[in-house]
Amino acid sequence: MMTAGQYIESLRQQKKEVYFMGERVENVVDHPAMRPHINAAAVTYQLATDPEFAHLASAISHLTGRRINRWTHIPQNQEDLVKKTMMLRVAGQITGTCFQRCVGMDGLITLYTVTWDMDRKLGTDYHERFRKFLIETQDNDYMTDGAMTDPKGDRSKRPSEQHDPDLYVRVVEKRADGIIVRGAKMHQTGAINSHQILVMPGMGMTPADQDYAVSFAVPADEKGVIYVFGRQVNDSRKWEGSIDQGNARYGVVGGEALIIFDDVFVPWERVFMCGETEFTGTLVDRFASYHRQNYGACKAGNLDVLIGATLAVADMHGVVKAGHVREKLAEMAHLVETMYSGALACSYNCSQLDCGVAFVDPVLANSSKFNTARYYPEVTRLAQDIAGGFIATLPSEKELENPRVSPFIHKYYKTGEQVDPLERIKMGRLIENMTGATPIVECMHGAGSPQAQKVVIQRSIDWQSKRRLAEAIVHAPGDGE
Ligand code: SF4
Ligand code: FE
Repeated sequence: MMTAGQYIESLRQQKKEVYFMGERVENVVDHPAMRPHINAAAVTYQLATDPEFAHLASAISHLTGRRINRWTHIPQNQEDLVKKTMMLRVAGQITGTCFQRCVGMDGLITLYTVTWDMDRKLGTDYHERFRKFLIETQDNDYMTDGAMTDPKGDRSKRPSEQHDPDLYVRVVEKRADGIIVRGAKMHQTGAINSHQILVMPGMGMTPADQDYAVSFAVPADEKGVIYVFGRQVNDSRKWEGSIDQGNARYGVVGGEALIIFDDVFVPWERVFMCGETEFTGTLVDRFASYHRQNYGACKAGNLDVLIGATLAVADMHGVVKAGHVREKLAEMAHLVETMYSGALACSYNCSQLDCGVAFVDPVLANSSKFNTARYYPEVTRLAQDIAGGFIATLPSEKELENPRVSPFIHKYYKTGEQVDPLERIKMGRLIENMTGATPIVECMHGAGSPQAQKVVIQRSIDWQSKRRLAEAIVHAPGDGE
């Protein structure tokens, strides 16, 4: 396994084509806009080699018997799924943001299972290819970017019906030695600091969309793979200083990028689906379940940090003992534990797929993610309610170095004898960071928009059996009859 430091150093070896703010970025590791996200991803390496957390963040590979990072592990049983959940909460508590490596983890798990299904039914050899790729990933402790979301164009049209055929990633040429792919994947969490990209179709396909039913892996710096790093609210604070960022070490959400595949060659040994449209629905549903399992855990960890910051500010304001503040803090904690309980429940209530892999309960996983999209904003609302207006009007950290106003800032932001005004400002900035637009959009649409979870729940519930339950009760004779 790599240490956090080795992971960061390994990124320096890559020659990725990354663009940000109109310029090519040669060195992502030391770029102020990117480094916080790299630090957050590095926590996934740190935990696996930390004696306190290695029991959660590392595992024994079922393929090699070697100890590996759990972010590359295929869950074999209930314990593995529960530990995955617990590991994500811990990582969320340490970083206070997204640590990015779970999309790739869930892509690895999903493709392991779906390639097995394909080979059984179709006689293909995708699973064998995938196992080789997985062992390489585990042994080298690679960070994998799981790339699923296509640009999608007009949402009412199928991939093959779009005005531009490249709006979903597709195969443009099949050769004796491999395929050429073209298209893009949007909002790719951790893409610029991954070692490899694992592409999967983003929706169930019909036979007309055969060229779009494609899954493959490429090294992250493969020729023709281009990254456009996205802007975030207040991102210029990253190169202006540190206090105003709120979370200077780990940033805000995952550092997302647009990945463009400009006619990229993929050798056959890295192709894990090519035209098998009938398996795309299973792939997407399975991936969604594994990834939605996570949200009740990583976001709960993040919100633990927010609750702590809110408590600290309330204390500094002298209101921590007020009944309404304690009641709101309790409500925040209740919402967070409700999110987390769903993540645990879908892990405990797992089943075994034919290939032997443990699979979360999909209805519970989807419900947990739906709760996260609903409760995360509610917890941030309560944090803002308690913290007060100062989090939105704080002066710049540059003013703290301005001799004319700095003493006044210290004087007027000091709320009590024992209160350090700088500590109050830092906590305020952290709350601002965690309750702003970007994390709210992330908890809403990451792992799929709430409507996608509702669709799964709607079609998975046996509605008539519930009706029969009610009928059984109304038709049951009472004792007097
Ligand atoms: Fe992992 Fe959560 Fe980030 Fe998704 S949002 S990559 S589950 S930390
Ligand atoms: Fe996410």
